[in-house]
Amino acid sequence: MIEICEVGPRDGLQNEPKLVSTETKVELINKLVDSGIRIIEVASFVNKKVVPQMADAEEVLRLVPKRADVRYGGLVLSRSGLERALQTDVDFLHVVTTTSDSFNLRNAKRTVEQAVQELTKVIEEGSALKGVAGVIGTSFGCPFEGEVPLSRVLNVAESFLKAGCTEITLADTTGMANPLQVQKITTAFKQEFGNNLTLGLHFHNTRGLGIANILAGYQAGVTRFDSSIGGLGGCPFAPKAVGNVCTEDMVNMFKGMNVETGTDLEGLIETAKWLERSMDKTLDGMLMKAGIS
Ligand code: ZN
Repeated sequence: MIEICEVGPRDGLQNEPKLVSTETKVELINKLVDSGIRIIEVASFVNKKVVPQMADAEEVLRLVPKRADVRYGGLVLSRSGLERALQTDVDFLHVVTTTSDSFNLRNAKRTVEQAVQELTKVIEEGSALKGVAGVIGTSFGCPFEGEVPLSRVLNVAESFLKAGCTEITLADTTGMANPLQVQKITTAFKQEFGNNLTLGLHFHNTRGLGIANILAGYQAGVTRFDSSIGGLGGCPFAPKAVGNVCTEDMVNMFKGMNVETGTDLEGLIETAKWLERSMDKTLDGMLMKAGIS
């Protein structure tokens, strides 16, 4: 069984220059839940001036369907973000840093060490009230620094876990990962932290390797993957980062392999097509164009 963390409403939309209405976001989330998605990153508590697309985080969380079997996540990068998040019904905080100083200075105007220090306090405080997942960006390479030493990824993960994170997601922020590297890093991670830790993988399809990397992660024993409906997404701070791995394309792969995802593939395709119409732009998903074979 695969667990999908749908990141379309957050990672998918945050880079979208045209503002998407709160109503459309909430309808998207409803359609995702109806299609069987149970973990959704719905909002980001970041500076509204820097990422105006996420300015309605509180409103989105107020309007999403409340269900005991659905978990909503919100991204937090700082203490002020935490304070906002704790005022909402968000189930899970996604606390994010990258492993590269160059990337982090551009993204969050601080070094990795400064970020980890501040986020440690955020995690300690947040985990008293909510679940906290630590997301480690540029785990598979940095567009400014190149290869990221594995020890640095493991160190950040260790600090996050010590502070109270119950899950870790390794993110390939700019689509630099390849399947062999995914297998190596995933295996090293499991050796270091054991098999009980929920490890998620987050890939962007920037160089066309997104789904190959998902398969490599699955074969190395990972069962939690981030993806976004229609392949929406990007990162405002990552040059040329294209969308996340497309949810329905990934579900189609697992379905063909007889691996359960708990989702309704046709419902997901309909949702992607609806979103394409609502946003009035062509999305990157393949299955929504080709159809189910
Ligand atoms: Zn991402």
